[in-house]
Amino acid sequence: MKRALISVSDKTGILELVEQLIALNFEIVSTGGTKELIAEAGLPVIGIEEVTGFPEMLDGRVKTLHPLIHGGLLARRDDEQHMAAVAAHDITLIDLVVVNLYPFQATISKPDVALADAIENIDIGGPSMLRSAAKNYQSVTVIADAADYDVVLAELREHDDTTFATRQRLAAKVFRHTAAYDALIAGYLTTVVGEEYPEKLTLTYNRKQALRYGENPHQSASFYEEPIATQASIATADQLHGKELSYNNIRDADAALQIVQEFTTEAAVVAVKHMNPCGVGLSTTIEAAFLKAYEADPTSIFGGVLAFNREIDLATAEHLSKMFLEILIAPSYSEAALELLTQKKNLRLLQLPIDGAAPVSHVKTSVAGGLLIQSSDVVIEDESQWEVVTEVAPTAEQLAALAFQWKVVKHIKSNAIVIGDHQQTVGVGAGQMNRVGAAKIAFEQAGERTQGAVLASDAFFPMPDTIEEAAKVGIRAIVQPGGSMKDQASIDEANKHGIAMVFTRVRHFKH
Ligand code: 5GP
Repeated sequence: MKRALISVSDKTGILELVEQLIALNFEIVSTGGTKELIAEAGLPVIGIEEVTGFPEMLDGRVKTLHPLIHGGLLARRDDEQHMAAVAAHDITLIDLVVVNLYPFQATISKPDVALADAIENIDIGGPSMLRSAAKNYQSVTVIADAADYDVVLAELREHDDTTFATRQRLAAKVFRHTAAYDALIAGYLTTVVGEEYPEKLTLTYNRKQALRYGENPHQSASFYEEPIATQASIATADQLHGKELSYNNIRDADAALQIVQEFTTEAAVVAVKHMNPCGVGLSTTIEAAFLKAYEADPTSIFGGVLAFNREIDLATAEHLSKMFLEILIAPSYSEAALELLTQKKNLRLLQLPIDGAAPVSHVKTSVAGGLLIQSSDVVIEDESQWEVVTEVAPTAEQLAALAFQWKVVKHIKSNAIVIGDHQQTVGVGAGQMNRVGAAKIAFEQAGERTQGAVLASDAFFPMPDTIEEAAKVGIRAIVQPGGSMKDQASIDEANKHGIAMVFTRVRHFKH
């Protein structure tokens, strides 16, 4: 007779499995709660304490941690000395292990979970059995996921044994499973003790979606999400309509979401192309904000990803339905708007709370051979602390415009220059290798709208050339961090043209 050891927290489907195993000539060994359930169903089952000669103890902390169990799992069947030891100690070999673990993830996902509760939900014996069985996959079959019950039963029925390939696959799955389980515990305790950058970093992600391809069709890709969602994100968004999100869609949608979250007091619309905003509009209604974002750059918005911080109403949807767009992201859609927009087959509609929540606390970037992690570019900035460095100070309206453009420039790839007023961007220069080059692109985009506009620069001016160019096209006020050795040359240039300039003393590079 073959022996199966069954010890599960989630007991779904377990009786059906046991019935089938008994029919396949297995005897069943089981722990406390699992055993009770099997026995109550009138099925034959051996209690773990009958095998170990020990009662389960310490509130279940010690149930299966015993040589008579782990010897039965770990003994190499083709090793004479192992088999002699097994015989000498009267160990019964175990052929199949079915274990699922204490629900640690569900426990720590509960709001205000007590530390003691979290700790009691760290499974010790379960992972030990899984690891012993997985190490010995040459002979032992191990199941940690109910989704694998059927495959194993089918093979047992067909060949009276599982195949080596299946055992190997299940073993790899087990080690991923226990590693992820431990990573979650490690992450939780690291947060409890407040270590920001621990010496050993243990991350775990679950695959959310297999992607058709990556950034380009010849690249493969998958979308992984954090096991515990701490905030609304593209990973947690509801997709109400449209084709599956692609790799580039997910990144652009994330970029649009990060920008729109900057604005709460006014209706805001952000249009993103290739991770950069091509238009940002603010107004009292979402339709008016959309028109501002659209008119900012009616060319680039084609095929764009748009994020809204208010419900999309019918008036706005009517404009949107006439355009080619990839994705809309909004906190909600009116019924009429949804009816209209869902007529567009390919338009992806995402819904998630957009409430100005802080961005993710840490940003991860991969480099060849490693991973960089930094805290997000979040800093409390108080415009009243900005330093006016020129002879003229910005007017109240210019100050509002500078504050708005400063929030936008933070999200543009460096070197970044953005120009506009207090409700609209009219020119964006992104990702240029020199600052005056970024400014020229922004000016060209804005055309005549540079007259009287304000300018934001994500980092200081290394020389006065940008200001010289800005003066030529009619820019009236500038916000920048300051801190260049040549600050005075820039200040002199601004004074020469009567341009108001403020220093924030905060830099917002984005590479
Ligand atoms: P039951 O409901 O059968 O009493 O308990 C099943 C759970 O106990 C499973 O999740 C299994 O992983 C866990 N388990 C089995 N043996 C041990 C042990 O020795 N120590 C601890 N802490 N958990 C165990």
